[in-house]
Amino acid sequence: MTALPSAPVADLARSEATRPFWEGLAAGELRLPRCQDCGQVFFFPRPCCPHCWAEAIGWERSAGQGTVYAVSEVHVAFDPTLEVPYLVALVDLDEGVRLPARLDPAGVPYAIGDRVAIAFAEDPAAELPRFAKVPHG
Ligand SMILES: [Zn+2]
Repeated sequence: MTALPSAPVADLARSEATRPFWEGLAAGELRLPRCQDCGQVFFFPRPCCPHCWAEAIGWERSAGQGTVYAVSEVHVAFDPTLEVPYLVALVDLDEGVRLPARLDPAGVPYAIGDRVAIAFAEDPAAELPRFAKVPHG
């Protein structure tokens, strides 16, 4: 059995189509692709719109607010550079797309439906987007 190369998780998802997403995280912004033809926001980033197949893709800043759709606590990391335990989630952004993310901090109980907001790590370029719980008002 061949060991997987040890690389930051985000490196596995980098391509020309996703470059603005990662550059946004590095700049402290969560950016989403929007089709310049039909106007729909979508995620994950790809070279053409999944709704109408147009190739004119623009990028805009997300407000970074969303709701937890699913959450799981990971105790066995697939990548030895990851510190366990950590929380992974699917977050439904208010812009209408769902994205995979980390939730911080580990050890805080999260539930489906919790409101979360983007929270950037010290080195966001090397990380998946991270979200933290928004206190109930
Ligand atoms: Zn479109």
